[in-house]
Amino acid sequence: MKADIAMADPGPTGRFGEYGGRYVPESLVPACAEVEAAFRGAWSDPAFRARLDSLLADYAGRPTPVTRAERLSNELGVDVLLKREDLTHTGSHKINNVLGQGLLTLAMGKSRMVAETGAGQHGVATATAAALFGLECVVYMGEVDTQRQALNVFRMKLLGAEVVPVTSGSRTLKDAVNEAMRDWVATVADTHYCLGSVMGPHPYPWMVREFQSVVGNEAREQCRAILGGADPDVVVACVGGGSNAAGTFAGFVGTDARLVGVEAAGGSAIGRGIPGVLHGMRSYLLQDEWGQILEAESISAGLDYPGIGPEHSWLADNGRAQYRSASDDEVLDALQLLARTEGIIPALEPAHALAWLVRAAKSGEVAAGSTVMMTLSGRGDKDAETVMGLLS
Ligand SMILES: *Cc1c(COP(=O)(O)O)cnc(C)c1O
Repeated sequence: MKADIAMADPGPTGRFGEYGGRYVPESLVPACAEVEAAFRGAWSDPAFRARLDSLLADYAGRPTPVTRAERLSNELGVDVLLKREDLTHTGSHKINNVLGQGLLTLAMGKSRMVAETGAGQHGVATATAAALFGLECVVYMGEVDTQRQALNVFRMKLLGAEVVPVTSGSRTLKDAVNEAMRDWVATVADTHYCLGSVMGPHPYPWMVREFQSVVGNEAREQCRAILGGADPDVVVACVGGGSNAAGTFAGFVGTDARLVGVEAAGGSAIGRGIPGVLHGMRSYLLQDEWGQILEAESISAGLDYPGIGPEHSWLADNGRAQYRSASDDEVLDALQLLARTEGIIPALEPAHALAWLVRAAKSGEVAAGSTVMMTLSGRGDKDAETVMGLLS
């Protein structure tokens, strides 16, 4: 095991090996520097940490439990523990990040948040935090996605946010990120850009990982209590941009556990991508031979991002974490398996992590009798209609 590899502070350059950095227009450099300085101050300020901890407990419902999945374990021949982010307020890990960035917005004396969203989960979470803190909120969403996810658009509006359909490019998530950044350039004096995953320019990949590390830190202690002081053999999480996986891995990187991130087969940046620059960061990206960014494709809108957070690219290259993928068909089977064996309907995203585990347990890639900690990043309500359509 590579015990020397840590998920540390990447320092002022925001580099994870050759990845990360801050590739933004001149006009956004001071804005990123301001966020970095505010976050560094807040993260070492006991009063900020105490306020965030109390919101995570009393508003978001933390700590979330770790559930031993007995019937699923019997089926797979491995011992499965589930970290239950599906039980948080708003139903996924995204609440951990937006409460942190919402408090940071207040700390910077700003009154407005902008965000990008794909399926709408990060938009709903940001609108939730904005309502809680009394902040103005504008969410950029590709026009195609506003049509596919009409219910989430309605939720954001109900929460008081303005939703702006983005009509440029492919009219999906990557274009929404571009528009949110454009807004931020023009409004930076009173606006914070609340980015939704461990991606984008420094300090976002590091800051969002730190806000999500509560998932892994809780899970490590909970697993030790369940396993009589031992750590799991394998820790697995799904990867879109990579925030729930980064938060999970942060808790276990110092143990001997094997770390596995699972991407959608149609959005597999580590498997099929090559390093390049997009949205302010250097990382593995899906691109053609001329450097044009390719559209990722997956049944789960939360995973169809053409890139991956830069720290994951670094963890893949240095071997501390491994990245695998799961196909849409495997994911649908895994979702139904968890529903039937445990009474838990997962979101399509974490069903990717389970789909890999099912395959790995069958093939022996994960040995019989191993203990496996899997982050269940969110609940399946948002996907019920999609799944109904695919299964009928
Ligand atoms: C958004 C989302 C993801 C993907 O985002 P990451 O940053 O990779 O965690 C995964 N699961 C759920 C439930 C989501 O809503």
